[in-house]
Amino acid sequence: METIILSRRGMLKIGAAAAAGLAGGRLLGAETQQPASSKETRMNQLESTYENGEYVLPELPYGYDALEPLYDAQTLKIHHDKHHAKYVTNFNAALKKLEKARQGSDFATIQAVSNELAFNGSGHVLHSLFWHSMKPGGNGGQIPDELQSAFEDSFGSADAAMKQFVAATNAVEGSGWGILAFEPISKKLLILQSEKHQNLTVWGVMPLLVCDVWEHAYYLKFQNNRAQWVDNFMQLANWDFAAECLAEAKSAMQSARR
Ligand code: MN
Repeated sequence: METIILSRRGMLKIGAAAAAGLAGGRLLGAETQQPASSKETRMNQLESTYENGEYVLPELPYGYDALEPLYDAQTLKIHHDKHHAKYVTNFNAALKKLEKARQGSDFATIQAVSNELAFNGSGHVLHSLFWHSMKPGGNGGQIPDELQSAFEDSFGSADAAMKQFVAATNAVEGSGWGILAFEPISKKLLILQSEKHQNLTVWGVMPLLVCDVWEHAYYLKFQNNRAQWVDNFMQLANWDFAAECLAEAKSAMQSARR
């Protein structure tokens, strides 16, 4: 069943069915009634955003008009087909620019391209999650038991979590996102605001190795010579630790989606 629903071709089928006003809602409803398959569904939904070595625009899991009247078809179509598509195109383009820079050992444009990478990468990740963050008819006020427990454990109650989510999202300065997130150290949930959506990170990444370049980290010895500090750091770098973090991150991502 998963392969039918989750392959790119399968998603196209759902989109077509939903557009015809037929099975989209029913299929999504069936997923929520079968927790075991919905877990696998969610993972695969993210996988459908990357195929054959490139990020790709995922098909919507419902028709353009499926969220009417709460979210209008015209806005949804432009949002997905134009805005999200552009993030995908430019995410791939930024990666190609970085590949070229590495090949030529020419990092003259690294700052601009790193910004493009973060801006478009975060846009792709968050929009991919955004489409699945809504469904026709919503959840009818029902919260799955596992999430209900997580809300209670992390925020005291589901009601408190939702009030905090609404308040945080409304209070985002300028453009951005309200985000319910899993924090893998505590294994609890957090509600975050994201201003704009990048600030030089790509949502969903987990750090493996970090170098502090706040001035407090090096100024006493290196003063304004940050490059010397970074060179020294690279000689000290613990790649064994990074490898361990990579294994933990892969494991945590699995558990976060369970
Ligand atoms: Mn958007």
